[in-house]
Amino acid sequence: MMIMEAGIGTLVVGAGSAGLATAAALVKAGQPVSLLEKADQIGASWAGRYDSLHLHTVRWLSGLPGLRIPRSYGRWVARDDLVHYLRDYAELYGLRPELGVTVERIERAENSGWLVVTDRSVRACSRVVLATGGSHTPRLPDWPGLETFPGEVVHSADYREPSAYAGRDVLVVGAGNSATEIALDLLSVGATVTLSVRTPPNILRREILGLPTQLLGLALIKAPPGVINPLIAATRRVSVPDLSAQGLPRIRNPYTQFEETGTVPIIDTGIVAAVRRGRVRLAAAAVSFDGPRVCLSDGSTVEPDAVIAATGFTNGLVPLVGHLGVLDSRGWPLANGANELPSARGLYLLAIQPRIAGQLFEIGLQSRAVGQAIAAAA
Ligand SMILES: Cc1cc2nc3c(=O)[nH]c(=O)nc-3n(C[C@H](O)[C@H](O)[C@H](O)COP(=O)(O)OP(=O)(O)OC[C@H]3O[C@@H](n4cnc5c(N)ncnc54)[C@H](O)[C@@H]3O)c2cc1C
Repeated sequence: MMIMEAGIGTLVVGAGSAGLATAAALVKAGQPVSLLEKADQIGASWAGRYDSLHLHTVRWLSGLPGLRIPRSYGRWVARDDLVHYLRDYAELYGLRPELGVTVERIERAENSGWLVVTDRSVRACSRVVLATGGSHTPRLPDWPGLETFPGEVVHSADYREPSAYAGRDVLVVGAGNSATEIALDLLSVGATVTLSVRTPPNILRREILGLPTQLLGLALIKAPPGVINPLIAATRRVSVPDLSAQGLPRIRNPYTQFEETGTVPIIDTGIVAAVRRGRVRLAAAAVSFDGPRVCLSDGSTVEPDAVIAATGFTNGLVPLVGHLGVLDSRGWPLANGANELPSARGLYLLAIQPRIAGQLFEIGLQSRAVGQAIAAAA
């Protein structure tokens, strides 16, 4: 029997960057807000990522509204420093999330408002902000024959550091930033690394002539695809050598690919040189397993000792709100940030999809807008 807890005000789900920034915006606007977090600490999704992780977005465009990330954290903020920053942010605004509470489902309340079903109780509230993150549930492809593979297969979400792979032959599946950074990690301990790529990604330098490439995304934030595509393609052409021969051809319409697939560009932190020098070999997409062999889409096979699947995440929204008609057929929100759907007034879905100007930057914009929208409606 669930306990029903009465409530007014806004319930924010998730104490990551987006949840904290929205709760802070509501506190600043004098609005009642509660914050629920399934983990036992603030910033849990960052704390659980691999040791070598640094932001690809520059420090001064990655902070949340009202608190700069300290300069002492450097230009490209390390994982643990970001977690510290998020804790300091919560402290600054007096945010005390209820930790260890998992939200399982959101329902419409009978008259107005929402019911938030958690693993402990049902909470009534006027408004709900879902800030549960776009990189929510690790996605592992349903590879035929996977169970016949004698080596270990881990998702990048479970990878921390490379020491266990020293001297071994590792197939990294995927071509996002996690895949390329894990590949570099593995090289550092003398592993033999093959990168299995299905869709060749766009590749950009982290900075050009001392300026973060993120600034280009910021400048183009409102530009149409017809302008963005050639500019980004040209940026790659002039700054990244041609890797077609190695299996990473240039993309004609990189922004359209990003919009359609949600695949963020690889931000080069060493992978370009490693591929050029043949230290990381490219292979076709992994399609199935046959005992020790991994079968690739071009008909060839490889026999690695271990596989790391950097194959991305789903946003995990279907069980929470899939029954409310607020998601499209791929599970993406039909409306983001302060844009409520007329059929779901008071339900806000925050910063779920990757954005060209950087997701943390976008979270700053969206959290402010949601705070203002809720304050105006209250
Ligand atoms: C490897 C990697 C590197 C990245 N690098 C960058 C970068 O350099 N720059 C950038 O801008 N973005 C980057 N991102 C994107 C990054 O995820 C976001 O910028 C940011 O963390 C998103 O914040 P968020 O609050 O939306 O989600 P999260 O940080 O994931 O926070 C969501 C929170 O919700 C909680 N939660 C989830 N489900 C529930 C539930 N059902 N009930 C209760 N609580 C729940 C989670 O425990 C978590 O604490 C990166 C992502 C990954 C995976």
